[in-house]
Amino acid sequence: MAFVIAAPCVDHQDQECMAVCPVDCITFDAGDRKAYIDPDACIECGSCVPACPQNAIYAVRDLPKEWAFFAEVDRGWYIDPVWARAAVDELAA
Ligand code: SF4
Ligand code: SF4
Repeated sequence: MAFVIAAPCVDHQDQECMAVCPVDCITFDAGDRKAYIDPDACIECGSCVPACPQNAIYAVRDLPKEWAFFAEVDRGWYIDPVWARAAVDELAA
C-alpha cells in the first residue's frame, strides 16, 4: 500500500518530501503542479509524511475520501503525465 500526494501539494512543490525519501520515488517535471509518488517504488517507510509542510501525504488507506482519486493520479502520472496534469487541474479547480 503506497503513499499518495493529495491536493494540498498543488502549487506548493517545495520538495521537502523528495529530500527525505530513501528510494527517490517522488518526482515532478516542469509544468507539473504537484509532486507524484511512484506506487511501485515506494517502500512505505512514511518518512515523507512529517516532512511535508502542507500535510499533503497519506497512506492510501488513510486518504480523505474527497482526495481518494489522487491515488489514481499519482499512479497515472508514471504512465501518462498529460492525463495526470489534466486530472490535477480538474481536481484543483
Ligand atoms: S513513504 Fe517512504 S518510500 Fe514512500 S514516498 Fe514516502 S519517503 Fe518515499
Ligand atoms: S513536501 Fe508536500 S507540498 Fe512539498 S512537494 Fe512534497 S508533497 Fe508537495
